[in-house]
Amino acid sequence: LSEKLGGILDRLTGRGALSEADVDAAMREIRRALLEADVALEVVRSFTERVREQAVGATVVKSVKPGQMVVKIVNDELIATLGSEVQSIDLNAVPPVPIMMVGLQGSGKTTTTAKLARRMTERDKRKVLMASLDVYRPAAMEQLAVLGRDLQIDTLPIVAGQQPPDIARRAMEAGKLGGYDVVLLDTAGRTTLDEDMMTEAAEIKAAANPHEVLLVADSLTGQDAVNLARAFDQRVGLTGIVLTRIDGDGRGGAALSMRAVTGKPIKLMGTGEKTDALEDFHPSRIASRILGMGDIVSLVEKAAATLDAEKAAAVAEKMRKGKFDLTDLRDQLLQMTKMGGIGGLMGLMPGISKMKNQIAASGIDDKVLKRQVAIIDSMTREERKNPDILKASRKKRIAAGAGIKVEDVNKLLKMHRNMADMMKAVGRGKGGPMAGFAKA
Ligand code: GDP
Ligand code: MG
Repeated sequence: LSEKLGGILDRLTGRGALSEADVDAAMREIRRALLEADVALEVVRSFTERVREQAVGATVVKSVKPGQMVVKIVNDELIATLGSEVQSIDLNAVPPVPIMMVGLQGSGKTTTTAKLARRMTERDKRKVLMASLDVYRPAAMEQLAVLGRDLQIDTLPIVAGQQPPDIARRAMEAGKLGGYDVVLLDTAGRTTLDEDMMTEAAEIKAAANPHEVLLVADSLTGQDAVNLARAFDQRVGLTGIVLTRIDGDGRGGAALSMRAVTGKPIKLMGTGEKTDALEDFHPSRIASRILGMGDIVSLVEKAAATLDAEKAAAVAEKMRKGKFDLTDLRDQLLQMTKMGGIGGLMGLMPGISKMKNQIAASGIDDKVLKRQVAIIDSMTREERKNPDILKASRKKRIAAGAGIKVEDVNKLLKMHRNMADMMKAVGRGKGGPMAGFAKA
């Protein structure tokens, strides 16, 4: 049914499929946008290649240009790659839960430590201890202590002459003794990716066994983002990424680069210098920044919404007229074997979910579906169109043809009747659940 209707709708609405030429032309623009947004070259390559394959042949929504459609597909894929679900900091461990910050100097580790401590204290009602492991810059430990005093959040007392792994152990000990829920370990960065920093981070990790290791990275990081994220992930092992300076005017390409090479979720973003400027990561915001084509995306979204409404109206019309014959059922069954459920168009409609559930509840598997298709295949065209003519002798013939019992033919006919009735009810008049959807 969906396939057939889809075909009719394609003709009605003048949709077409994206050709290779359409996609290639648009991809040149996209590639330029990604590079301008400072997405690392290797990531641009693999990303555009992947999306290109997806886009060729995809349906173009009525009233938008092929190039615009490609932008929409790229945008969706960008959001999916960046991680469409919010990934929060995982505190699901025996307290005190150690969380370690790593990253280059000046990336915002200390600030993020304070922001996170504040959020966990105020929002999540956790008792948090912050510890600075930066023994290289005399002011670093004091910086965290000052932030802690302002926020009235405890910091580990400073003891001169200790090495970072020892401080980490002392922090965990103090965390246990003091009944803290969380211990935030703020480590020292270096100005560049260097061996010392990696060795030290690995030692701290071994000492504290952190539940989360967060790479804090400036969203303005350019091509280096790939090496940075990859090195920290390989040497230390990351559980997530925090992007800072989202409030700056960078286009945020680092987000895609780091996510793509590590596969680790971007959990938070820093949006300012103050300690309340911390937010959950919003992939759509970053995606539209990276592409810089937000207006095209919303244009296509609007067009798609209109089209969905048209599609729904057309299906509703067919249902209202009660034109759901056994050929339609056969199409639907075949589609189900392909998609493992009523998919596509049918799945879009709220009224159909009942039917879907019913079919699911009846425990129909692939074998049953194929048998049902075989039953319909044994019918004449006339019988498919008008199942009422199916009396005992015809049923016997069909059962023999499909190699099953008459009982099975009856079962199928009953299912068809139920579905047709339900569709009629769903599609009927203004009061039906389809009505609002078709207008939406
Ligand atoms: P660290 O060396 O990694 O510990 O970096 P710091 O936390 O000391 O931050 C370095 C500078 O960046 C400070 O001046 C912070 O105020 C600033 N900073 C950190 N995060 C953000 C942010 O999200 N937005 C802005 N605008 N500035 C930030
Ligand atoms: Mg610092």
